[in-house]
Amino acid sequence: MEQFSYSRANDPAAAVGQVAADPHAAFLAGGTTLVDLMKLDVETPHTLVDVNPLPLAKIEVRGDTVRVGAMVRNTEFAYHDEIRRRYPVLSEALLSGATGQIRNMATVGGNLLQRTRCYYFRDVHSPCNKRQPGSGCSAIDGFNRIHAVLGTSDQCIATHPSDMCVALAALDATIEIQGSGGTRKVNSNEFYVPYGQDPAKETVLQHGELITAVEIPGRPFFAKSHYLKVRDRASYEFALTSAAIALDVKGGVIKQARVALGGVATKPWRSPEAEQALIGKPANNDTFKAAADAAMAGAKPQKHNAFKIELAKRTIVRALETVAAMA
Ligand SMILES: Cc1cc2nc3c(=O)[nH]c(=O)nc-3n(C[C@H](O)[C@H](O)[C@H](O)COP(=O)(O)OP(=O)(O)OC[C@H]3O[C@@H](n4cnc5c(N)ncnc54)[C@H](O)[C@@H]3O)c2cc1C
Ligand code: SF4
Repeated sequence: MEQFSYSRANDPAAAVGQVAADPHAAFLAGGTTLVDLMKLDVETPHTLVDVNPLPLAKIEVRGDTVRVGAMVRNTEFAYHDEIRRRYPVLSEALLSGATGQIRNMATVGGNLLQRTRCYYFRDVHSPCNKRQPGSGCSAIDGFNRIHAVLGTSDQCIATHPSDMCVALAALDATIEIQGSGGTRKVNSNEFYVPYGQDPAKETVLQHGELITAVEIPGRPFFAKSHYLKVRDRASYEFALTSAAIALDVKGGVIKQARVALGGVATKPWRSPEAEQALIGKPANNDTFKAAADAAMAGAKPQKHNAFKIELAKRTIVRALETVAAMA
């Protein structure tokens, strides 16, 4: 049996050095994803570097931008006055996730890196290309009601589970990453990579790189925004469909729009097609329906999840109506 080790890191550079040097090491934040998956034998790190002591738990307003440290808990993030005032969509997305207890533990960095809820991924007895590359995908010919209809490949159709990340996609947030060679920033819409032939690779992160913060740009119209999540029960449940919407409406005409979708895609899904269908058009139901059609035009249903296409369209229209009524 492999020896297991655990240590606590006080310094980001030391944490990065420790994990980067050991292919079997992982950062431990709130543990609400990682410990679950370790219990199931889906993730099997030999070394855990606990990043809870790192000085990365501040929310700072820097002019137009808000910088949120990677160790900020989802609860504090959601209830922060400036987040609620500037980005209702983000506060609502955070509060729609999981439960109060889990949100008290879950961190920004961990939320960005939570893993799919595909049942076959979490069952080590089922073939799964994401867990064990080359073993096959049990979901494509299996029970795929919760799976994705956008961004899928013939290797994997798993849905990205996060709510927070859908709002961050709509807001064009930036993710700050610290590695052995220094710090870099990546737009949240480029952070997740398409599944292609290797669904085990989900993000641009290299092993050992630490997420240190998220930066959210300020745009006055982000204050007119909303997150709508549709799920099988009202709490403690992941999205079947969700929409993160922000609109800038002047004189009844849409000047700027942000549309991102959750529950339907392999990553938090920004929809430039929907945004283009909205900009310059009157803020009415015909426009909203056209935007919803545009967002889902490329959807590819599986045997059990075709219902998500219509449900996603209705989610988008309802969320657009809600935001338009605020304008
Ligand atoms: C029952 C249940 C229901 C849930 N429902 C929802 C839901 O409805 N919506 C939703 O969005 N989420 C939901 N979640 C997921 C939850 O939001 C995530 O588990 C949580 O955000 C993960 O954060 P964490 O700090 O606990 O991460 P951890 O479990 O500690 O870490 C997760 C991963 O991120 C890595 N990591 C952590 N921090 C960093 C960092 N700073 N840099 C680099 N790597 C890092 C870890 O190594 C690990 O691989 C649910 C979870 C549970 C258990
Ligand atoms: S959908 Fe992806 S995660 Fe689920 S079984 Fe197939 S390869 Fe694995």
